[in-house]
Amino acid sequence: MALLEIDHLSFHVPARSVLDGLDLDVAAGEIHALVGANGAGKSTLAYLVMGCEGYRPATGEIRFDHHRIDDLPLHERARLGISLAWQEPTRYEGLSVREYLALGHVVADAQDCLHHVGLSPNDYLNRMVDKTLSDDERKRVELASVLALAPRLVILDEPTSGIDLLSIRELIGVIGTFKARGSAVLLITHREEITRIADRASQLCGGHIVGTGDPESVAAGYQGRVCWHCDDRDCHHD
Ligand code: ADP
Ligand code: MG
Repeated sequence: MALLEIDHLSFHVPARSVLDGLDLDVAAGEIHALVGANGAGKSTLAYLVMGCEGYRPATGEIRFDHHRIDDLPLHERARLGISLAWQEPTRYEGLSVREYLALGHVVADAQDCLHHVGLSPNDYLNRMVDKTLSDDERKRVELASVLALAPRLVILDEPTSGIDLLSIRELIGVIGTFKARGSAVLLITHREEITRIADRASQLCGGHIVGTGDPESVAAGYQGRVCWHCDDRDCHHD
């Protein structure tokens, strides 16, 4: 059953269309990879689904649990059970990891969530979520904070970027924890090897989805970051 349904979504910035007639469905409990080259519009799609400031569709619909959400503010979408782990999470002065992991409608134990992202609670609960954390540590804390919410849908925007040590094996573990808690995952990546750990995958190119199917064939189509579907019209490969 579809949990997230996106129909014919378009989003423009001055002088340019970023998304153009994008269709995508994510089923309840599904791990769905969204793969595309840098600049393809993956983070833009994440912000449109989450309802970030300034991100409203020019055309199209976004439904969650069969209800339209594209006019709702971010906090209402969060309350419905949508969470985003940012590609580049912000740092906050004066906020401890313990406090950060208690924000929002938390259902899981903070210590348990830290363990799942490879951080020892004894070492991290009293650390500050500020610039004293490395990119790697901040990214792990971000994943732990989203795990603590057990959202119905989590958008992981490039979960391994900035993380030196997070292996694919570790990422599979984190995603397995989301799955065990009943979360669907929209796994955003520019890496074909990460695409392969999903249940299903879609490729974003030229502002829309150019292929959806089993991760192996979508990854194969994307191999080398060369898109087999576009004709250079509006494509932004590395
Ligand atoms: P990806 O996450 O796939 O690397 P992004 O969604 O970050 O791609 O960006 C896609 C394109 O849209 C980029 O060229 C980016 O500069 C542009 N873009 C996205 N949002 C805005 C915005 N608010 N203003 C201007 N350009 C934007
Ligand atoms: Mg991005």
